[in-house]
Amino acid sequence: MSATKYIFVTGGVSSSLGKGIISASLATLLQSRGYSVTIQKFDPYINIDPGTLNPYEHGECYVTNDGAETDLDLGHYERFLNRPTSQENNVTTGRIYQSVIDKERRGDYLGKTVQVIPHITDEIKRRMKLLGQTGEFEFIITEIGGTVGDIEALPYIEAVRQFKWEMPDDCMVVHLTLIPFLAAAGELKTKPTQHSVKLLQESGVQPDVLVCRSEYPIGDDIKRKLALFCNVKKESVVESLDAESIYAVPMLMRNEKLDEIVLKRLNLPADGKADLSRWKDFLYKLRYPSTEVKIGLIGKYVELRDAYKSIAEAFIHAGAANDCKVSIDWIHSESILTPEDVKKKLEDLDGILVAPGFGERGFEGKLQAVQFARENNIPFFGICLGMQCAVIEYGRNVLGLKDANSAEINPKTKHPVIDLMESQKNVTEKGGTMRLGAYACDLVENSLAQRIYRRKSISERHRHRFEFNNKYLEKYEAGGMKATGFNPDTGLVEIIEIPDHPWFLGAQFHPEYKSTVTNPHPLFISFIAAAIEFSKKNP
Ligand code: GLN
Repeated sequence: MSATKYIFVTGGVSSSLGKGIISASLATLLQSRGYSVTIQKFDPYINIDPGTLNPYEHGECYVTNDGAETDLDLGHYERFLNRPTSQENNVTTGRIYQSVIDKERRGDYLGKTVQVIPHITDEIKRRMKLLGQTGEFEFIITEIGGTVGDIEALPYIEAVRQFKWEMPDDCMVVHLTLIPFLAAAGELKTKPTQHSVKLLQESGVQPDVLVCRSEYPIGDDIKRKLALFCNVKKESVVESLDAESIYAVPMLMRNEKLDEIVLKRLNLPADGKADLSRWKDFLYKLRYPSTEVKIGLIGKYVELRDAYKSIAEAFIHAGAANDCKVSIDWIHSESILTPEDVKKKLEDLDGILVAPGFGERGFEGKLQAVQFARENNIPFFGICLGMQCAVIEYGRNVLGLKDANSAEINPKTKHPVIDLMESQKNVTEKGGTMRLGAYACDLVENSLAQRIYRRKSISERHRHRFEFNNKYLEKYEAGGMKATGFNPDTGLVEIIEIPDHPWFLGAQFHPEYKSTVTNPHPLFISFIAAAIEFSKKNP
């Protein structure tokens, strides 16, 4: 294949239609035909990255190997494609403007007025091409955040127009839209889509394909109508019905021949079929599990499930690997303060996961959950703050360190068993300054972690400021909590375990970011296996 092909995915009518899933599904179909594909997301907001956003605002902040704090859609890209993304895969308006303003200060535009067109749009185009220029990918799918018509997305749409003008044969636009059903009229309505396509056309962009989200089959008549009024081929109007799982969407898109439409439009052979056998196996296991476990996910953002997206997805992957349906009981850590609450909310669970998080709200409830899991031999998995909670709980209730705490929660505590790293003490800026991205971790021989990973050394992704305080290491190890994973360069503790407990493990890193359909994460697989064991013994 000669040139890299660029596919842009825009959204119309409504937000939350699932551009990320459609992009990932199309990428999966192309990948399963043997093409190398990556997906990037351009977000129209002014934050440099979502790292400083409250999860209530924007869901989970996903982290790449190279330490970018990104939109959660990048998680979908990795989970579907089983290929790591990087800094380059997520760009925001903030980042675009920052580079243009830096160049202006350096004098790169001396004598010129710096403007949205051409300077901002040129910078957008430059970034849109970066991954294509690595020569690694045959297809670059670019998801444009937001909805067509948003003022802030205009420069991106203009960049897409120029792209199409510059390389008409190697570039195309897929527009994802909504066909609402009006119950009173008993009809599916095409007008909102006609209007959103008109908006695109006003900006000079003609979509090549319409992917129509709908609760009901849209039928031939509606396809014809949409094609006529939106100026696209009828075969290029694709229906996207609500799916039972996001992982079923590639199959739905296959049935609608989205991959063939795209290949034909880009003048590539569309005979032959995508090999989706592994994908189908996974879906089969998802659909027909032979057992079920209930896992409590203890966090303080549980009202918004997107805040724990990667964890929820990792459970789906690990469930399929264990032939088991994992149902998650979302438990607000502020709701489990009294012993009665704790018992009521946690006693039916087969496993307890204390989630990552920041700050004091809901902290005591998380400690209660750890204690309940530890004392009742319920499989326990602590991630990041969840691991730190496990250390604090053990300090207070087993080692007799009454004031054990994290310096994040109480900077004056007598026993800062979780403390700020030396290198973090002088950090004042909040954005992008945590310990971020992939770090190596050596595993202790014969530990639970080492038996699970079956490796001596692993690499996992981080996003935190605070660490296990090694001044307390000896006391913990003598008292029954073992550190079983260490950073080989700094000696920082990355994993803790209680060997006397059937399955009790805390990880300072975030294993959930690396779990994919093809490579479910070993820690999650093992945790679910332990939960199945537990449920058999405690029916
Ligand atoms: N707040 C903790 C820290 O910064 C944990 C962060 C997390 O759970 N991601 O160390």
